[in-house]
Amino acid sequence: MSVRVRFAPSPTGHLHVGGARTALYNQLFARSQGGVFVLRIEDTDAERSTHASTAAIFEGMRWLGLAWDEGPDVGGAHGPYLQSERRAFYERYREALVASGHAYAAYDSPDELDAMRQAQTTQQEPQRYDGRHRSLTPVQREAFEAAGRAPVWRFRCPAVGAVAWDDVVRGRIEFQNDVLDDFVLVRSDGLPTYNFACVVDDLEMRISHVIRGDDHISNTPRQLLIYAALGEPPPVYAHASMILGPDGKRLSKRHGATSVDAFGDLGIVPEGMLNFLALLGWSLDGEHELFSLAQLEEVFRLERVGASPAVFDMEKLEWVNAQHLRRLTEDERVARVGTFLARRGYDISTRTQEWRLTFIRALGDRLKTLRDAEGYGRFALVESIELDSEAWTELLAKTDVASRLQAVAEAIASDRDFTQASLEVEIRLLATTLGVKAGELMGLARVALTGRKVSPGIFDVIWLVGRERAVARLSEAAVRWSAESPWAPQA
Ligand code: GLU
Repeated sequence: MSVRVRFAPSPTGHLHVGGARTALYNQLFARSQGGVFVLRIEDTDAERSTHASTAAIFEGMRWLGLAWDEGPDVGGAHGPYLQSERRAFYERYREALVASGHAYAAYDSPDELDAMRQAQTTQQEPQRYDGRHRSLTPVQREAFEAAGRAPVWRFRCPAVGAVAWDDVVRGRIEFQNDVLDDFVLVRSDGLPTYNFACVVDDLEMRISHVIRGDDHISNTPRQLLIYAALGEPPPVYAHASMILGPDGKRLSKRHGATSVDAFGDLGIVPEGMLNFLALLGWSLDGEHELFSLAQLEEVFRLERVGASPAVFDMEKLEWVNAQHLRRLTEDERVARVGTFLARRGYDISTRTQEWRLTFIRALGDRLKTLRDAEGYGRFALVESIELDSEAWTELLAKTDVASRLQAVAEAIASDRDFTQASLEVEIRLLATTLGVKAGELMGLARVALTGRKVSPGIFDVIWLVGRERAVARLSEAAVRWSAESPWAPQA
């Protein structure tokens, strides 16, 4: 059987974590099997579907590096790939189901349906369509039509028996037919419902495997009944586990960022996001965790997708991301950081390549997300820094700070070469002259230059800040210390 899979999002918002994982698993399965990956946009809900959402889904998928073989923008032999352009197919299948007696027109008004449900509630019966229009005579139908009622088209659900399938992820799943009612296939406005359009399209697009989230498990029996009514074999189903937030509840906006682009803004790189998404419910061997997309496309097996819920762990995402940042070439890392910072309003493109490289090297392994470049590297990006209050309070409690900071400023001002190596020589020499430990002197300079107690190596810091600015920051801190510290000599 040739493998054809699809990702079928409804364009009602951004690409979210769950959808992105579904898209990824579909692509991985297609590539690992030499199959075809189809993108289908399920936009039959005209009120909720927007072009902007379709564009956002494309963008989210492209950002992740996903690429579909057939879809609305790339075309293909089984199009169109927007459900809103496929009404002729649904019409044809509806007619076939009516002709074979598997579907019928029902003319109930909303009020009548409400009254039916209320009566069921009063009698403590489950709410379901009771089949009252199953066997209308032609005369009855004409009377409804003459009264101006537009019908919905319902599926004639078998009253007995069961429907079952062998889910690749969850094994055998069975639903009794009597829990399903005569569900709607086509609404009175002529638009198909999700279950009907999905079956028609999966059939017409020759989909061999349906890989989707487990929130669709309850739809599957209805879809299987439609396949049976059409006399067509259904695809293989694989329902991936749900994704939970750290509190054990289904992942939602309450947990913070859930749309894929938002992770880009948090400084996650697509390689990291993609790898992390793959691990949300799939593992190769429980041991190896770091993969590129190309590697995943080789090793992915649907049978290794687990049924138990996956927990979205931001720390894990950052760890995976950090590993991918390290795998990038230095030039690539510089480029990514540059683009990220530019979006945040810091332009490092005007700096020399040497400056950019030194900046990235100074951040080193602390760079877990691109955003760390903005936080940890802030001292080098802004004109004036904010002093961390704890770091400053500690400085105020020391003695001789102003004179030492001033001495460091002078050493920097008069260092002819102004390289990290020459700065190191100067400052160590100064420490000896002043009779303080070099580490102590560097600690003072660190707070004055970065505002913090933790920073990259001090000689990189001085070099990155630049001679004039470094001298200015040290002098300003000296003046401020003299004004605020109880240990400042009285003028
Ligand atoms: N449009 C459905 C959704 O976004 C697709 C479900 C399916 O894959 O069948 O959830």
